Amino acid sequence: MTDAPGTYALLLRGEENQEIEVGALGAMIVRPGVYVYVGSAFGPGGLRARVGRHARGDGAQHWHVDYLRAATALEAVWYTHDPERRECTWAAVLRDRSGATVPVDGFGASDCTCPAHLTRFESVPSLSSFRARLREQYPDHAPVEQAGEDLLE
Ligand SMILES: [Zn+2]
Repeated sequence: MTDAPGTYALLLRGEENQEIEVGALGAMIVRPGVYVYVGSAFGPGGLRARVGRHARGDGAQHWHVDYLRAATALEAVWYTHDPERRECTWAAVLRDRSGATVPVDGFGASDCTCPAHLTRFESVPSLSSFRARLREQYPDHAPVEQAGEDLLE
């Protein structure tokens, strides 16, 4: 992962039932399972700066995902340096998978018309089938990588 722009997915594990406040969205129930949040980083520092911030979980609670991040464990990060913003595409592909649910309407989707940029699964969804689906629908999509463990420490 470099400081070039790109799109990323955070795979966040909920370990126990808890209720959190998510800024203006209000209360959210976090349950055991895997929450996949999709975002993009096209500002200074690109993907590396943004994902590093999420991985550390520090800084002000600014985005919806910051509140969820504080209540979960970061299990993996998927990312692409594709020059197009792919977050809405990724959110749609994830929502389409069997077992996917949208836990909170509007989560992470204040600036677009998606139902949400957060999808919940009972267990970690398969990266290889996510890649396959993207390749099938968007043949020009740049490769999707999984972040190294150094980022997640
Ligand atoms: Zn969207």
